[in-house]
Formats: sequence, C-alpha cells, structure tokens
Amino acid sequence: MNQACPFDLGAALAERQRQHRYRQRLNTAAPAGRETVIDGRRYLNFCSNDYLGLANHPEVIAALQAAAAELGVGSGASHLVCGHSHYHHALEEQLAKATGQARALLFSTGFMANLGAIGALLGKGDAVFQDRLNHASLIDAGLASGARFRRYLHNDAGSLEAQLAKADARRKLVVTDGVFSMDGDTAPLAALCDVAERHGAWVMVDDAHGFGVLGPQGAGTAAAQGVAGRVQVHMGTLGKGLGTFGAFIAGSEALIETLIQFARPYIYTTAMPPALAAATLQSLAIMRAESWRRDKLHQLISQFRHGAQAQGFALMDSATPIQPLLIGDDAAALRLSNALKQQGVLVSAIRPPTVPEGTARLRVTLSAAHQPEDVARLLAALGDAPGDTPD
Ligand SMILES: *Cc1c(COP(=O)(O)O)cnc(C)c1O
Repeated sequence: MNQACPFDLGAALAERQRQHRYRQRLNTAAPAGRETVIDGRRYLNFCSNDYLGLANHPEVIAALQAAAAELGVGSGASHLVCGHSHYHHALEEQLAKATGQARALLFSTGFMANLGAIGALLGKGDAVFQDRLNHASLIDAGLASGARFRRYLHNDAGSLEAQLAKADARRKLVVTDGVFSMDGDTAPLAALCDVAERHGAWVMVDDAHGFGVLGPQGAGTAAAQGVAGRVQVHMGTLGKGLGTFGAFIAGSEALIETLIQFARPYIYTTAMPPALAAATLQSLAIMRAESWRRDKLHQLISQFRHGAQAQGFALMDSATPIQPLLIGDDAAALRLSNALKQQGVLVSAIRPPTVPEGTARLRVTLSAAHQPEDVARLLAALGDAPGDTPD
C-alpha cells in the first residue's frame, strides 16, 4: 500500500496531538458548583456554565425527585405522540412569561433548538446571515438548512448591512449569539435590528449564556438591551444559567406553531424527562426571584477583572461571567491551564478550532456559587503560574 488510507484515523489523531489540540475529558465526582473533585483531589472550579449556582440547589433537586416519583423517569415518547406532560406544558408557559414572549417551545438541547428553528424557517431560496463567532450549533444549523449562508464580521452591523444589501433571497434571517460563548461580549442588538428592519430580515438571538444572567429578572440579552420586541426568534438554554438541561425557543404564536409542525429535531425525538421540566420550573422561579445571584455574580466579575488587569493579563471586552484570558499560542494556553491545575484551580484552555487560529485562551467562568475568597485564590494562582505571565 503506497497510498495513505483515507480511514487512517490514527494519523488524524496524531496530528491533533502534535498541534496541542487533543481533547481529553475529566472524570469529575462532585456536583457542579464552586468546587469539583477529580481523581480524589479537590479543585476550585472556574469552567462550569452554572452561572447562578442552581445546578445543585436543594429545591431543584427536590423538585426533580418528587416529579420522578410521580411520573417516572422517561417521558415515553416524543412531544407530538404522548410524551408532553403537564410539567413540560407549565414550563413552556413560564418560559414565555420569563422572556416576555407570547409562547415558548421546549427542545431537548440547545443544539437541537438551533437546528430545529433555523431548519423550520429557512430552505432553498432563503439566506442566513451569521456573526463569524457564532456558536457551532448555529453554524451547522445554517449550513444544514440549505439556505445561502453568509458570515459577517464580529458584532459589525455595517458588515451585516453590506451583505443584506446584496441579497435577493425570499426569507432573510440574521442570527447572532446574545453573549458570545468563548469571548463573553454581547451582540449590539439594537444596531443589528435596525439593519435587519431596513432589509426586511428577521433576527434570531441564541441567548444560551445571557438567559438567567442578564436583563431584568434574568430575562436575557435582548431584554437587557431593550429590544426583546424587535427580535423574532429567542433561543435560550436551560443547562447553563438555569443549572438543569434542555433548551427553548420563544416568540410569536405563529412561530411556535410553525416549529411544532415543521421542526424535525422537535418532532422526531423523545421528549425530555418530565422530572427535568419540573426541576427547571423550580430553578426558573428561583432564577427570576433571587436577583442577589446576579448582583453577586457582577461583583465577582469586577473583582476578577480588576485583579487580572493589575497582573497584566489580556482581558476581553466582557461584562459577563465568561472572562477569557487571551494567550494566543495553543501550547502556552495548555501550560498555564496545567500550572493552575497543579495549584488546585480548574480553568480550561480553549484552543482552535473552537476559537480562531492564534487566539487560544483560558476561559474563566464565574458563578454566584463562588465566594470572593475563591476569586482571590484564582488571581493568586494566576500570579504564581510560572513562565506564562504576559511579561
Ligand atoms: C451551549 C450552547 C448551545 C448548546 O446548548 P446545549 O443545550 O448545551 O446543547 C447553543 N448555543 C450556544 C451559544 C451555547 O453556548
């Protein structure tokens, strides 16, 4: 055989290893929260998306247990057959209320919500316009939809406008993360809505990292920016700020009915366990009522930013719990992450292809479950990490 076998998986894996991009999973043995346990050792955890500290809340756990005792574990079927329980229904009503929209529809995951919504709205003859830093699930959904696919410069309404002006598609959908998952900055939604409105386009916001965290009562990025009524498709996830699992799309009556009829990742999959919906109802109520969690989070964010800046780290333009430290080189980001781990502090190194080439970073995420002493320990560990401080 003198020709490389196209299924030589070992070669592709070795190449990834050589690039310092090999992914490995941690086996954790503690609930999400301020600490985790790996191989019997305790770590301060700065890489979960449990922003409000609800994943391990006793009332959320109790709601899950009680509903499992009542309805069992599995939903038994898809929503359209007989898997749609009264808990699912009540959760959809509360999510509509929390986002200020007419209706909401549950999906099993955020990835599926994005595939479902974009796939149901767009097809051949349509066009989708996406921020170039959008989440992978939005990119894949856009590509799979069959619509013409355009990417505009990050958070650049002018770049979007130039592309919309050239498009002669039937339906035009502008899609953006509300909070960018690897940078922590927020989309300029008013400017994007202005442009979209001038060109007859709809706007979809993926608020996986904004829902629960930003806006009045955690209503999300669009509400925080006062444009909730100008965004036609609101997507939120339940596995991050709400600390449970699943996702939803919120919007008009016609939008939700369209998704029920046409969104394949909604129709052809088993409904989430009803007890998860019951747990999420509880966490949603706590999320809305306990604004001290958001206030505390913002204090921790500013503590971290001041401390990291004083040490000369390159912070990104983020006012959210996602606080990446830009390192650049893949191997250097890994070394810093490992040095922190040796000091009992867990922060993941994010490398391409998750982020653009040359922008490897440590992605610090903060949670209302953290205490100011925890952030102080993270800052001290960063200061002590050998070799990779910016000077
Ligand atoms: C996490 C995430 C998703 C996917 O949500 P899951 O419920 O985890 O599948 C979608 N979009 C963004 C921006 C995310 O960060």
